[in-house]
Amino acid sequence: MASTELPILIAGGGPVGVIAALALARQGLPVRVFEADGKVNESPRAATTHAATLEMLEELGLVDDVIRRGLIEPLFRTWDRSTGRLVAEFDFGILKNDTRYPCAVQCEQHKLARLALERLRTFPQAAVEFSARVVAVSQSSDAVEISVQTAEGTRPVKGSYLIGADGGRSTVRKALGIGFDGYTHPERFLILTTPFDIGTRFPGCTRNYLSDPHDWCALFKVSGDDGNGLWRVLSTTRLEQTEAELFADEAVERRLQTFIPKHGRYEVVHRNLYNVHQRVAASFRQGRVFLAGDAAHVNNPLGGLGLNFGIHDAMELSGLLGRVIRGEGSEDSLDRYDRYRRPLNIEFVQQQTIANKKRMEEKDPAARARNFAELAATAADPAAHRAYLMRASLLDSVRKRRAAEV
Ligand SMILES: Cc1cc2nc3c(=O)[nH]c(=O)nc-3n(C[C@H](O)[C@H](O)[C@H](O)COP(=O)(O)OP(=O)(O)OC[C@H]3O[C@@H](n4cnc5c(N)ncnc54)[C@H](O)[C@@H]3O)c2cc1C
Repeated sequence: MASTELPILIAGGGPVGVIAALALARQGLPVRVFEADGKVNESPRAATTHAATLEMLEELGLVDDVIRRGLIEPLFRTWDRSTGRLVAEFDFGILKNDTRYPCAVQCEQHKLARLALERLRTFPQAAVEFSARVVAVSQSSDAVEISVQTAEGTRPVKGSYLIGADGGRSTVRKALGIGFDGYTHPERFLILTTPFDIGTRFPGCTRNYLSDPHDWCALFKVSGDDGNGLWRVLSTTRLEQTEAELFADEAVERRLQTFIPKHGRYEVVHRNLYNVHQRVAASFRQGRVFLAGDAAHVNNPLGGLGLNFGIHDAMELSGLLGRVIRGEGSEDSLDRYDRYRRPLNIEFVQQQTIANKKRMEEKDPAARARNFAELAATAADPAAHRAYLMRASLLDSVRKRRAAEV
């Protein structure tokens, strides 16, 4: 079989893996996805989907379903938690001449992954295998080979190219010996999910950042699987706190009552603890193997950028591979994937998320006051407001990438 007739292999059936598969399948290309878990991971992670990504989901025919299954939110607000003062309100509506989607859509990532999987099943040349872990990778000048471990044993699978979309602990990245430079924050982030309508305390906006030198938190509404709405309360933990301590009923209750005091106890439907990293792979490509999504870059979730950028990876890579396989581009053109996406991630995702975290937790009173004044001034000035949101929505990163294209 000629190498171009072999399927493109994808390690990882998370949102980035299945979006990449869908974007390839829509070009008529054969694709096989291998997912280690038995089903789509439902833990509460990404929900915020930005304008630039909504435009890409439109190309894939997914945007209407994502909007229908999610919540449209044009606003986000930053508060000074210690005084209860609203510092700044940003409105994506100001981008109405820049994008067809001047808003964010809160759609949980497991819903997006399932929607993409449903579409993928309509393509006869696309296959997805669950409970199938990629355990080894090798490549020659014209093909790749992976070892896939299932309940029946381990078998080799040959492909034309391999996309490692297997998350932050990527087996593919490690198999290639690619470094993952950066750092891991010592503290972890805790997400508590409650059906209590926190919107009664923060009316008119479902994305709120409460900055505080000791106990900051972020409050987001998602629609939930039944569409009735759930609120996620994201906050930070101290180094010495164990999972058992943090998840204990009384500790959870105390934390929620501290942030949003109310009569009666909280109902809590999920408790999740996450390590937080800022890391970027030393290279996004080695020969016929590519890294995408969290396998290539990880960041803290403040700003909701990690998955958005991962979807942009999937779209760019599927376009480049399609052109090369159809003979419209040279193998060398695949270098662009690493050449452009790696610096874009550092500039638009790492820098922004690091700055967002610093602003939320700033301890120095003078620096806090300066941050708040800057944010308020940015929100008050239409040109600065727009510029800030062009960056926050990743529209700037997409434009910069397009401008670099020859
Ligand atoms: C609390 C939190 C909130 C977040 N909020 C946002 C947000 O609002 N917006 C945003 O853009 N981002 C957000 N993120 C980041 C987002 O969740 C990730 O960027 C996203 O999950 C990356 O998708 P992925 O498909 O690359 O990786 P993953 O979702 O990690 O999927 C990787 C998949 O690969 C599978 N796998 C692993 N190893 C193997 C193997 N060897 N073989 C086969 N399969 C394998 C795994 O089982 C998994 O299903 C958030 C993250 C956290 C922790």
